[in-house]
Formats: sequence, C-alpha cells, structure tokens
Amino acid sequence: MASVEEQAAPQPADESAARAGIEVENPATGEVIATVPDLTAEQVRELAARGRAVQPAWEALGFEGRARVLVRAQKWLTDNADRVIQTIVSETGKAWEDAQLAEVFYGANAFGFWAKNAPKYLADEKVKSSSVLVKGKKLVLRYRPLGLIGVIGPWNYPLTNSFGDCIPALAAGNSVILKPSEITPLTSLLMAEALRECGLPDGVFQVATGRGATGAALVDEVDMIMFTGSTATGKKVMQQAAETLTPVSLELGGKDPMIVLSDADVERAANHALYYGMFNGGQTCISIERVYVEAPVYDEFVAKVTEKARALRQGPPTGPGTTDVGSMTFPPQLDVVDRHVQDALAKGARAVVGGHRGAGPGLWYEPTVLVDVDHTMDCMREETFGPTLPIMKVGDTEEAIRLANDSPYGLAASVFSKDVARGEAVARRIEAGAVCVNDAVANYTALELPMGGAKASGLGSRHGAGGIRKFCQHQALLVSRFHLSKEPHMYPYSAKMTGRFGKLIKLLYGRGKRD
Ligand code: NAD
Repeated sequence: MASVEEQAAPQPADESAARAGIEVENPATGEVIATVPDLTAEQVRELAARGRAVQPAWEALGFEGRARVLVRAQKWLTDNADRVIQTIVSETGKAWEDAQLAEVFYGANAFGFWAKNAPKYLADEKVKSSSVLVKGKKLVLRYRPLGLIGVIGPWNYPLTNSFGDCIPALAAGNSVILKPSEITPLTSLLMAEALRECGLPDGVFQVATGRGATGAALVDEVDMIMFTGSTATGKKVMQQAAETLTPVSLELGGKDPMIVLSDADVERAANHALYYGMFNGGQTCISIERVYVEAPVYDEFVAKVTEKARALRQGPPTGPGTTDVGSMTFPPQLDVVDRHVQDALAKGARAVVGGHRGAGPGLWYEPTVLVDVDHTMDCMREETFGPTLPIMKVGDTEEAIRLANDSPYGLAASVFSKDVARGEAVARRIEAGAVCVNDAVANYTALELPMGGAKASGLGSRHGAGGIRKFCQHQALLVSRFHLSKEPHMYPYSAKMTGRFGKLIKLLYGRGKRD
C-alpha cells in the first residue's frame, strides 16, 4: 500500500515542529504497509480552527441535509465493503469475517440508524413544570450541537470503535476530529476519503494521525472528548479534560464474565464461550474473558470447549474463509497475554489447548483454553485481551455471582440457563453495563440500547438516545408570551408581599404530614 502521508498531513506551521512519520505494520506478516504523520500540537490546533470554521454551515444543513450525506456514506460502505475489509485486515491482522461482521456490518447499520434517528433523539422537547412561578410560559429542552468533538480510538476495531462514534457526532451537527490509534490509522483515513466522496463539506471530519501526545493535544482543543481505550489512558484523558472543564465520555477496558448454570444448554454455552472468547483474536472490549461453570456441567462444558478450540484454524487472513483466528494487533499486548498464561500455569492452571506464542513473522498467540484457574491468577483479574479462555468450576450460583462481581471492571457479562427467568434474575445481580442471557455481545448490535461500562469500564455510554445527546448541549429555553410589565416578586421588597409568598409556600408545600 502506498504512503498516505500526503493525504492526511496539514503543513506544519513550523517546519522544526514536524515529527518523523509513523510506520504502520501488518501485524500478521510484520511488513510495513504505510507511513502516516505524527501530528504536533500546533497541527492539531490548525485542524481545530478549520473544524470550527466550517461547523456552523454543517449545522445549518439541518437533519435532512446531514442525513443525505450519511445515507450516501452507507451506500459507499456497502459498495466498497471489500476494500474496507482489506484495509482493516491489513492493519489489524484480524480474520476477514471479523472485519466483515463486527466492523462493516456495524458501520453500514450505524450510518442509516443515526441518519434516521437523530431527528427523533434530538427533537425539541416541550416541558411542563410544577413550578407556579413559570405558569403560562413556554419551556423547551433543546439539544444543541457542542461544536467540535474530539474522538480518540483504540486499535482493536478501527471502524466500529474509532469511526463509529463520529457518525452520531456528525449527525448531531458537530465537526469532528478523529485521532485513531497510531497502530491502525488507515481505516480512519479511508473513511475520511469516503465522506469527502459522499459530499461532506471539507473540514467537517478530519483525521489527526499521531501517538498519545497527538491525542493529548486534541483534548485541549475540542468541546467534548469521546474516548475509547484502556482504563489507564481514560483516567489521564479525564484528568487533562478537567483543566478546561471539557466533558468526556469514556469507553474503557473490561474483564467480562460468563456464568454457565447447571441447567444451561451446554452446547450453546460452549459455542458462545469459544466464539466470543476468540473472535477478533480475543481483542474485543466485550469479549468473554473468564467463565464460571456450575459443578454439575463443568466437565461436559470443558470437554466441548476443548474439542471446538482444537478445531480452530489460525493463520494469516488472506481472504474470506482463510482463517478462524487472526493475529494479534499490538505487540505489547502479545506480552500481556503470554504473561497471564505463564502466571496461571505457574500457579497450577493447565492449558488444555494452546498456551504458547505462535511462530513468527507476525504477532501470533495460539487459541488457549485454561482450566484449574482461580482468582489469585492475573488471567482472572486483569484484562488479557487475547485468544484465551480461562474456565473455573464453581460450587453454586451464589459463588458464580460473587466471583463475576469480584472485579474492578463492569463492562458486559453473560448468563446461560434454560430457565430464562432464573437467568434474568442472575443477570440483574451482575455489576456490568450490559448483561445477556443465553447470548453474548449481540446487544452491541442493537443501536437502540445504551452500551457503556460500569465501575472502571467507563463513564457515559454509546448508542441509544444518550449516544447522540452527549454530543449536544442540553439547553433550556423559557419563552414568556403573556405577562405583566413587572412580576410580583420584584423590587421593592415589602413585608406585605413577603407575607403573601410565605402563605403561598405553605399552601403549596406545607400540607404534608411530618411522619
Ligand atoms: P490505549 O488507551 O493505549 O490507547 C487508546 C488511544 O488513546 C490511542 O489512540 C492512543 O494513541 C491514545 N492516547 C494514548 N495516550 C493518550 C493521552 N495521554 N491522551 C490522549 N490520548 C492518548 O488503548 P488501546 O491499547 O489502543 O486499546 C485497547 C483498550 O481499549 C482495551 O483496554 C479495550 O478494552 C479498550 N476498548 C474499550 C472499548 C469499549 O467500548 N469500552 C472498545 C474497544 C476497546
């Protein structure tokens, strides 16, 4: 692939401030496939000025005008699906199908969803008040675009998790600057090209390629930051944003538990554990990271998962159907995965499948199933973010719930039971932003449902009404149409009026009982 340096780089104001470009590697092969600029703070400031200048005209297009661009982009994405998948696969190493289902499918759905639903979620709301002081006045809650939104994304889903949040931010009438991960910037640049082709005015969507420092510079320039990434970086972003009181929405790490109750459909549970533990190489914020299985079905469950895991094909993704589990994407993550596996083995766990790094070139870790694990092991406590599935036997449902909640994280979870009422009762006791019963991850595709982490997994949520209203100021409007020239409570204060207001307060609020 050719260098994309020219298409992304604004000219630095000061030549000495320019930094060397960032080489993008194909993690499945180790080949360098492109070089992108590492933007300086000054360059980010220039992008911000440009984004602000063009935002009012974009807002003025209204929902219909903006929807036209988004619907064209939806068509562009379906027409260019293979090119987009190829780009995602080349910079992440994931399987072709992982890019198709969890990225292109998501993106195509999201363009249409926000084009259609933005007017509904952001319509003016007439408000009725119980306050007698505003009787006869018109009260409106209005959603007004904040202006310039900064989106900072991770490397695991360059379309869904980096670009995905830009769609509602644009639909609301904002300009957007996306800072993709330095590991996977090419999909974002391709989507910028797509939006230009679809008629998005210049400067409304811009990509600021760069490392962490570029992301930090962006935090200082925008009216709101939508961050997806690790909990550690999320805390830094929030701390920095506090200096300028810039609002943040944080989608962070997870350690998602799956609970298999003794009355579960074990075949379905095993298929879900394997798929949602391994898909995208286990590098999904809401992938199944640990499994608790009630003793009566533990052996059957482990046997099924083991057999299915042994059948997985792993290798370079060269097209549709060429591999099940792709490579890992981020070199340091490979070390984390290996550290967790070695720690578990050293503390008495067994790898019934895998347990080693794969042979290079490229970033490979074998699909790994661990048993005899417990909560003294890192693989049950820290985010692993790789193709591993630790399975723990539990004595009863209470123990499963206690262990599932024994985590600083609270992103998503799943519960399997043929008794759906029992499954739902357990689901309601899990401390997580989303819980599925007899399913996993599928809630993420329902864009009407909010998705956001509890505890250290985040702040705010994406999708649903909140997923677009967060890109807006919630402005209150009060319009007084029929009124006196002076309101009774105004100057001069008098004992007579004070007495009247005292009686009014008693009349309105003083009639309740004390106990
Ligand atoms: P990361 O935190 O290392 O990096 C995320 C982004 O932040 C990158 O673009 C990076 O360049 C940028 N960054 C780094 N330092 C910064 C700073 N000081 N200021 C501003 N930006 C800075 O995360 P990652 O390794 O790219 O992604 C993996 C993590 O993302 C995992 O923890 C995963 O669970 C999480 N994730 C969460 C969700 C979710 O929806 N909750 C989705 C996908 C990934």
